[in-house]
Order: sequence, then C-alpha cells, then structure tokens
Amino acid sequence: MTTHEQPLDSVLETIGRTPLVRVQDGPDDVRIYAKLETFNPGASVKDRIGRYMVERMLERGDVSPGGTIIEPTAGNTGIGFAIAAEQLGLDAIFVVPERFSVEKQQLMDALGAEIINTPTEDGMGRAIERAHELAEELDDAVVPQQFSNPLNAEAHYETTGPEIYDALDGEVGAVVAGCGTAGTLMGIAEYALEQDSGTHVAAVEPEGSLYGEAIGEDREEGEYKIEGIGTHDLETNELFDPELVDDVFAVADEAAHAELKRLAREEGHLVASSAGAASVAAKHVARQIADGEIETPHDTVVTVFPDSSERYLSKGIYRSFEEWSS
Ligand code: PMP
Repeated sequence: MTTHEQPLDSVLETIGRTPLVRVQDGPDDVRIYAKLETFNPGASVKDRIGRYMVERMLERGDVSPGGTIIEPTAGNTGIGFAIAAEQLGLDAIFVVPERFSVEKQQLMDALGAEIINTPTEDGMGRAIERAHELAEELDDAVVPQQFSNPLNAEAHYETTGPEIYDALDGEVGAVVAGCGTAGTLMGIAEYALEQDSGTHVAAVEPEGSLYGEAIGEDREEGEYKIEGIGTHDLETNELFDPELVDDVFAVADEAAHAELKRLAREEGHLVASSAGAASVAAKHVARQIADGEIETPHDTVVTVFPDSSERYLSKGIYRSFEEWSS
C-alpha cells in the first residue's frame, strides 16, 4: 500500500490510503482486518466523502468557488466537508441535532464552518429539512445530501474498496461495516462484488435501529448509545441497497462498549462505538466462516473502524457502561 512518504502540497492529499491492521481477537484460521480511518486528517472515514464529493460537485458546477456547502450531519461528515470546503474555496454550514458530541462541533467550528443546532427529539429528518430551507435562502449554495447522493458511496467504490483489495492482493472473503448513511458499506460492497460475486457482505447497526427490516428481519425500534450508525427511518437512508447485503447484524450498546474498551486495552486502538460494533460483528462473521456456516471465497474478513474515541471523552466513553452517555 502507498504511504504518504513524499512531501505533499495540501492536507487533502493525506486523505485515504489508511492502514489495514489485523484484529488479533479472532479465530486462528480466519484473519480479520480493520481499515483504520482514524488516520485521516479529520480523524474519520468522512474525510473521504468530504474531498471526493466537494471536488465532483465543483467539477460538475453544482457550486462554484465562493459558494456554500450546507449539510445536515452528525459531526464527522461536517469535519470532512469543512476541511475540503475551506481548502477548495467554499464556505460551510452544518445543521447538527444537539445530541451529537461537542468535540465534533468544536472541530467544525475550528475549521471555519458555521453550525446550526436542531432539537435532538426532532431527529435527523428535521436537520435535513432545515439544511434545504437554508440553501433556498442563499445564492450558490448546495446540499451534498450524504444520505441520498450516490457520490457518497462512489467515494468508497473509488478509494476504500480498491485500497482494501490492493492491501490483501484480492483475498477478501467478507466485508463487514456499520451503516449510518450506508455509503461506506455500499461503495466497498459494490467494488467487492465486482471482484468476486461470492464475497459475503454484512451490514452492522445498533439494536433499536431498523436497517434489518430492509432485508425482511424483525426489528424493534429503540434508542441506542452507539454513535454514527443506525436508522430510525429507512426512507431517509436512500443509499442502502438490500440487494448487496447478505446479513444485517444488530449489536447491543453494551457489547459495542465492551469491545471498544477491549480494542484500546488489548490492541492499542483508540476507536469509538461504531468501531466497537463493527468489530463485534466482524468477529461473529469470522466465526461463521470458521464453523462453515457461511461460504466465502477467502478466509478473511475486512471491517472499518470509522473514528476515534478521543472525540467522545466528554461523554465518558471509557467509563463504565452506565456512565457512558449518548
Ligand atoms: N461511524 C461513525 C462514527 C460515523 O460518523 C459514521 C457516519 N455517520 C459511520 C460510522 C457510518 O458511515 P456511513 O455513513 O458511510 O454509513
């Protein structure tokens, strides 16, 4: 894999080409690898779509230099878009439901973006609505709409997917990733299935989220503490294509929390709750392969660790489960 050994002209060039590192706690005969998206300059997977989507939107003339990007976002996307927007000569405004972490909002602010909060109880749906209202009021403003814009998944089809296959010389048996917008999983899955249509694809969501219903599973809607993945409203998550997905794993908050703490203590990964959930699910898929419950073209499982735990220290992410707040 290429590393960033040459001098670079801009922080945008440091996005992607993240390390793929073995997760030690799996079955002996099935290797699990995690793509460490914390190595991006904004410390999350969302830097990829920030750069990719802003560049494509500028090329297509959806917005021009001096214009504004307005996005409803849980935070990491805001950081990714803020880095790209400011480097490419655009302003950035983000509409953020209040429940999301203060660290993320401080970072968006530090990067020069404006933040508008919407009430937590109104959900992401209201944040999306508000972003569109603002875009109407401004000249030359665009809402990238990560929840429905195919460029989101395309960023991963063009970058994350090929990086994984290069690093493993094509030996990928299963792909397992958390779904917020589902852009990460859909982009990687599309690339993976083109390489080998037998690749196993598993989505990960918190218990209480409804993605499972899209593949005909029963789900009971509820609240969860895991941040960055899951949906309460399948209609808003237009990128999720059930045709590409073999399984959807619902991971309990408590299991994700125990795993993110284990990943820090035993494996040195400072990653957050969506990575904890992804790791729990990846280990489950690895056991299914080891036990012959599912067939895959190779004995390897690849997952994604989307962001860093440092972003959630104020929420007590490393305290007891009861003290960790969403
Ligand atoms: N984990 C975290 C912490 C996130 O912020 C996100 C994005 N919402 C994801 C996972 C899921 O990524 P995607 O939107 O590509 O499904």
